[in-house]
Amino acid sequence: MQTVARWLRTIFLVDLIRGLWVTARYTPQPAFTFQYPAERRPVAPRFRGLLRLQVEPETGAATCIVCDQCARVCPDDLIEILDYFDFNLSRCSFCGLCAEVCPTRPVKALIMSEDYELGTYTRDRQILRIDEMYDGVPIEHYVR
Ligand code: SF4
Ligand code: SF4
Repeated sequence: MQTVARWLRTIFLVDLIRGLWVTARYTPQPAFTFQYPAERRPVAPRFRGLLRLQVEPETGAATCIVCDQCARVCPDDLIEILDYFDFNLSRCSFCGLCAEVCPTRPVKALIMSEDYELGTYTRDRQILRIDEMYDGVPIEHYVR
């Protein structure tokens, strides 16, 4: 029975017509292409991008209380809080656990930001030090 159905689909070009129908539906719609890097793609509200540290908006004071919870919860051991707050971006799976457990309120010290340009020209630039992790610190943009 299945063989007959397949044979009929082949004879009547059902799959081809379906494919053409999809193409015909999408062709009149505007293109989804962004002219990156001149245009940047907007991200979804719960997008998980590069980890960032936040300061008190009024005073600019650091909000991290060095509780070490983010470092302990990271499944890949990518955060190290000794003399500095070091973060190894190259192996991050963006699971968000570190930002989830960060206890500071009302300003969360550690957040998953909307920055998605994570490429660097050298491997050691993937280790971010505390001063590179603050929200608002520009990331290295791709230039031709
Ligand atoms: S997002 Fe996940 S993998 Fe990346 S540093 Fe945080 S806990 Fe570790
Ligand atoms: S969990 Fe938050 S407050 Fe604690 S060390 Fe990490 S960033 Fe700082």
